[in-house]
Amino acid sequence: MARNTPLRTADRQVFELIEGETTRQENGLEMIPSENHSSVAVREALGSVFTDKYSEGYPGKRYYGGQEFTDKVENLAIERAKKLFGVEHVNVQPYSGSPANHSVYFALCEPGDVVMGQSLTAGGHLTHGWKVNFSGKIYKGVQYSVRADGIIDVEEARKLALEHRPKLIWVGATAYSRELPFDEFAKIAEEVGAYLAADISHISGLVAGGAHKSPVPHVHIVTTTTHKTLRGPRGAMVMVTKKGIEKDPELPSKIDKAVFPGLQGGPHDHQTAAIAVALGEALQPDFRKYAEQIVKNSRALAKSLAENGIKVVTGGSDNHLLLIDLTPFGIGKGLYGQEALEAAGITVNKNTIPAEPCSPFYPSGVRLGTPAITTRGMKEKEMQEVGEIISSALKIGCVHPFPEEKEKRETAIAAAKGAIRSDKGLKKLREETLKLCKEFPLHKK
Ligand SMILES: *Cc1c(COP(=O)(O)O)cnc(C)c1O
Repeated sequence: MARNTPLRTADRQVFELIEGETTRQENGLEMIPSENHSSVAVREALGSVFTDKYSEGYPGKRYYGGQEFTDKVENLAIERAKKLFGVEHVNVQPYSGSPANHSVYFALCEPGDVVMGQSLTAGGHLTHGWKVNFSGKIYKGVQYSVRADGIIDVEEARKLALEHRPKLIWVGATAYSRELPFDEFAKIAEEVGAYLAADISHISGLVAGGAHKSPVPHVHIVTTTTHKTLRGPRGAMVMVTKKGIEKDPELPSKIDKAVFPGLQGGPHDHQTAAIAVALGEALQPDFRKYAEQIVKNSRALAKSLAENGIKVVTGGSDNHLLLIDLTPFGIGKGLYGQEALEAAGITVNKNTIPAEPCSPFYPSGVRLGTPAITTRGMKEKEMQEVGEIISSALKIGCVHPFPEEKEKRETAIAAAKGAIRSDKGLKKLREETLKLCKEFPLHKK
């Protein structure tokens, strides 16, 4: 097979799988809040010849030859990120969000050091000190939570910090629908002399577009993925702020050394090129409109859900994300909610709610968000309709019983899934979703 044979003829199997995924995305609403639809330009850069290059090291200091263009593309990504977020130093090489966070630990902590972050079950991320993750195994993870009303318990965080003296504190979450209190965490970090890192993986597009306040004046380090609200390729960045350099002038070089050679080998230059494209897009004025519309849509969706009798954690949203509390239908109904929405053509994920009454594997909520459907061009009017579809689907799916007795669960779940898959009401909702998708196509022909 000639090297330049297109995929369509070179590998029919993989070609058809990509076609299938394209159609799946086209004909359904992606409402997993960590997902988005990247632009053709981003994906073109991601599929470029930069994937063939090795460039261990940093621009101007590489271990391989032939770096004329890799140096330029990496510097371009760095300069754009500095401008977009207003930071002093950026590393664009982390393979993804988890390795980016790993590099922060590697730069600042020794094994056994105390670190503090928001608990996974309260909406935090695995890499913020959760027990089964490297961050909770290598380091001593102290975890703060949210109050019964779903708001971050800053008082608890302060008490834990004073008691355990963490070396590193994380502020940032993966299932939190309100503004993050960067300023209050800055005071706590100051009191105990800790490094403060904001992980804005979920909200970096909102921060870039001015729709969420920036952590930059308050924290020493900012980490983010590039594939969520920022709408780039899968990837991540670690940024050091002016405040960070004032605390520790060595911080930029500590981070760079932690990423390479500490944790990684060669950077993914194709990913770097695509990150540069996404950052270029985020610097355009219409990205601000996009970011604002994500939040407007999220609020409109919360309103529609409430009007249709669905309970939303904290009663609404300040960002791109909503957490639905399904306990009015009974505990452990997250899976049924997820299945019913899937049958209605809407992709979400089951999620724990504050003070989860069931378990992380059988949680009592679903998490959903507006970044991807806002990319399709939907606005408040469509959110009204999406809210109605979601509410109707949940009311159909969540009536199925979820037994408290563990040994009865398997049979009950199988029965519920079967009933959900063949439900006529959900099939009708699937048609409504499809109609919306056709009105807002992803890939205009
Ligand atoms: C998504 C996310 C990450 C991890 O990103 P991966 O690319 O999946 O490794 C880290 N922190 C937060 C807060 C996230 O939401």
